[in-house]
Amino acid sequence: MDRFQLYIDGQFRDGAATFQSLDPATGTPWAEMPEAREAEVNAAVTAAHRAFRSGPWPKLTATARGKLLMKLADLVQAAAPRLAALETRDTGKIIRETSAQIAYVADYFRYYAGLADKIEGAHLPIDKPDMEVWTRREPVGVVAAIVPWNSQLFLSAVKIGPALAAGCTVVLKASEDGPAPMLEFARLVHEAGFPAGVFNVITGFGPTCGAVLTRHPLVDHIAFTGGPETARAVVRGSAENLASTSLELGGKSPFIVFDDADLDSAANAQVSGIFAATGQSCVAGSRLLVQSSVKDAFLAKLKAKAEAIRIAAPDEMTTEVGPLCTLRQRDRIERLVAESLTAGARLVTGGQTPEGAGFYYPPTILDCSSVPDAASVTQELFGPVLSVVAFETEDEALEIANATQYGLASGVFTASLTRAHRMIRGLRAGVVWVNTYRAVSPIAPFGGSGLSGHGREGGLAAALDYTTVKTVWLRTSDAPIPDPFVMR
Ligand code: NAD
Repeated sequence: MDRFQLYIDGQFRDGAATFQSLDPATGTPWAEMPEAREAEVNAAVTAAHRAFRSGPWPKLTATARGKLLMKLADLVQAAAPRLAALETRDTGKIIRETSAQIAYVADYFRYYAGLADKIEGAHLPIDKPDMEVWTRREPVGVVAAIVPWNSQLFLSAVKIGPALAAGCTVVLKASEDGPAPMLEFARLVHEAGFPAGVFNVITGFGPTCGAVLTRHPLVDHIAFTGGPETARAVVRGSAENLASTSLELGGKSPFIVFDDADLDSAANAQVSGIFAATGQSCVAGSRLLVQSSVKDAFLAKLKAKAEAIRIAAPDEMTTEVGPLCTLRQRDRIERLVAESLTAGARLVTGGQTPEGAGFYYPPTILDCSSVPDAASVTQELFGPVLSVVAFETEDEALEIANATQYGLASGVFTASLTRAHRMIRGLRAGVVWVNTYRAVSPIAPFGGSGLSGHGREGGLAAALDYTTVKTVWLRTSDAPIPDPFVMR
């Protein structure tokens, strides 16, 4: 079996114990992973704290930090085939997707490399004659970055890039499910020449690793991606150290199709929106709201496309849907689909777990128009299951779309420009895609509200989130300070 190590303070080392990683395509163990517990978490945070306060990192100019990030981007690009293969092996995400996503990972590092020396403070036109006042944007400190299993390289890059560009140091906790690509990524950080302790990778379990990290007294900011229940535990942990938090959580995103839409184009976008990444995507367009007059025609197109999807081993280039990452995840999906069918949902396609090894589940469509409060409509399944609800009017579409505590992504398909604008205004979501779905870029902010979390990743604002403002007052008068009892 392959063996991986933690990366702490510039060194590769074993954890307190090991655990086995399963290959989701076969369900069999393929690698020994290092498990970080309290001692390893403490070593990583202490190293990050020391690297933040002393040594070469705080003395580097922002431009020099940017150059290191640029080198890292080049190394990621060069190692793309290896990283993609590891992510596919350890998480079951199909190789077509992991290969394409690594190119994005390099792009994110390049974007933040370029941004490092553009994080500026401001000179203030202060209302006092003998003062110069300005603000400095300083790095917030030690960042604990915690990621879930899906797209770990990507979800880590959107945290590591801006954090390092801003001058922070990072302890990244990879998910216990599929950590291999992150442990391998540490080799590239090492090769790029970042000073010891600036970036550390650990992995382990929630209670014994993640929770210890979130309440550690030397952690200043927690950048978390995962589910809402875990986010609550993270926020409770941060009550100990009062670290700031940014939370990228789940979604139950509406994908809205009006009767004037290009139905073929919308059907392709819907397939990508729910079946890409085998549905294990926070932005999955998992609620299809379709105008009644085109419901049958649209569902017929979707059914044909879903049934033509090639389900096979994730390391084959022609595979379109691979296994889910864990058996636990498949069990949960099976249960929620069964509950929805019992409640009265109609099975359009899928819904049958295939025989054989691996954690496969087929693309599934449930028509829930008669049971709009079924479990599959209201809960995030994080799998290839689409729940359909029909609507009559634009107002009704908005009402159904917003009837959720989540607020991450949304999609609108219509030929009407004016309607598109009304929907953009009315949708409670951090992202609105119009006549497209699942587009991302390092330049565009991304995030949600409500149960989908708070804070934004991507764009300039994300780099600013890793800074704190220092206000500087400098008196320009040589005259003695007058009355000490008057605030001026
Ligand atoms: P999860 O919440 O179970 O785990 C996420 C991470 O938190 C893992 O590394 C886990 O070990 C760690 N963790 C668990 N308990 C912890 C604790 N008490 N303290 C600190 N850390 C702890 O999430 P998951 O099931 O791995 O991933 C699926 C979820 O992630 C879904 O809800 C999905 O929507 C969400 N997600 C969101 C985005 C986004 O950008 N908004 C992207 C991808 C996934």
